[in-house]
Amino acid sequence: TESCLAAIEAADVLNAFCAKTPETARAQAAAADARIRAGDAPAMCGIPLGIKDLFATKGVATQAASKILSGFKPEYESTVTQNLWDAGAVMLGKLSMDEFAMGSSNETACYGPVVNPWKIDERALTPGGSSGGSAAAVAADLCLAATGTDTGGSIRQPAAFTGIVGIKPTYGRVSRWGVVAFASSLDQAGPMTKTVRDAAIMLGAMASVDPKDSTSAEIAVPDFEAALTGDIRGKKIGIPREYRLEGMNAEIARLWDEGAAMLKDAGAEIVDISLPHTKYALPAYYVIAPAEASSNLARYDGVRYGHRAKLGAGDGIVEMYEKTRAEGFGPEVQRRIMVGTYVLSAGFYDAYYNRARRVRALIKRDFDEAFAAGIDAILTPATPSSAFGLGEMQDADPVEMYLNDVFTVTVNLAGLPGVSVPAGLDAKGLPLGLQLIGRPWGEGDLLNQALVLE
Ligand code: GLN
Repeated sequence: TESCLAAIEAADVLNAFCAKTPETARAQAAAADARIRAGDAPAMCGIPLGIKDLFATKGVATQAASKILSGFKPEYESTVTQNLWDAGAVMLGKLSMDEFAMGSSNETACYGPVVNPWKIDERALTPGGSSGGSAAAVAADLCLAATGTDTGGSIRQPAAFTGIVGIKPTYGRVSRWGVVAFASSLDQAGPMTKTVRDAAIMLGAMASVDPKDSTSAEIAVPDFEAALTGDIRGKKIGIPREYRLEGMNAEIARLWDEGAAMLKDAGAEIVDISLPHTKYALPAYYVIAPAEASSNLARYDGVRYGHRAKLGAGDGIVEMYEKTRAEGFGPEVQRRIMVGTYVLSAGFYDAYYNRARRVRALIKRDFDEAFAAGIDAILTPATPSSAFGLGEMQDADPVEMYLNDVFTVTVNLAGLPGVSVPAGLDAKGLPLGLQLIGRPWGEGDLLNQALVLE
């Protein structure tokens, strides 16, 4: 804990931590020492962590990297963080992210961008997003691991951009209670770690059956670490042809083939498969996620939480809402609210939202059919490129940024577990990740397959 606290102070340039909690960390570390001396050391005992700014932490600023939540200190603790503290973990502070978890570059945070510890020619690169602070902090050894959340790729893409491991569990495996909601039917929290084994241990501590979250599944949490035997003989790994995009980055294609060869050498069978509705995933996601966001973000009205705009004489409650929301939300969040409100509006609901929901069902069916045909896991790249420069996409069409999620959103739409594992470096010397997609509730098997790629 002390060495992490010192490393955090020395790494201010990365801008990964948006709140530091050294007193809490030292008190939790002392308590962990006492538990270890008493012979009662649970899985995460004494492990110093960073917590994404999306998790409510009692008495500690929780802002979802948004101005609209400035000054908000929750009266309650999220289930995930409470589970981690119960397992002996230590909180070093809160980690920056894209505002309300909307983004792929950590540039929309009200705290300013986070810098990737990986560099080329001293040029500042994005750590990815939205869990960019978590990824940068783990990659730079500012903490042993961090929490992330993933609605369309926000654990896996930053993990790939920083050379670490990140898993999005099956929807319902980890409680969403106390996690600021973005798109409730897609959001899922998970660990971001240095190794696959750490991910297995930390996921076991984060997951629980939680009566406070109606979408938490009543499925017991198995011992994920016990599944890490390294034996994947006889497993069938699918390679979906629709993920081999036209004009695909040659180095990513090469690492993908190498990953398949590693799994084959370990005794798995590699099978070409088809997931025919893949190309509709991104448009469906960018209808469903903003729709849910527009509803979830209606609660930030200047009354219940955080920021309230200064009002002029004669301003009533409507002006208060309007001014607060115009000042409090950044441009990407406003764009999502407007798109979401539009696709849910009476005249367009069927044309956009309902159609996207039908497409989502087809995407899920593609995966169901692959698993029913005996496929155990699916191997794809995690991202279409390595980390790009901070500011590089500033003037681009927002859709350019959305294309980052092309390999990851299908997994959220289908509610499946997906893990990103470091796959090697590209010619620029930057990390790339491979993604393995697993059967529902099969995180143990999935991590065991990921172990072979590590
Ligand atoms: N980049 C995606 C988006 O902006 C995913 C974000 C996430 O997973 N939280 O919506």
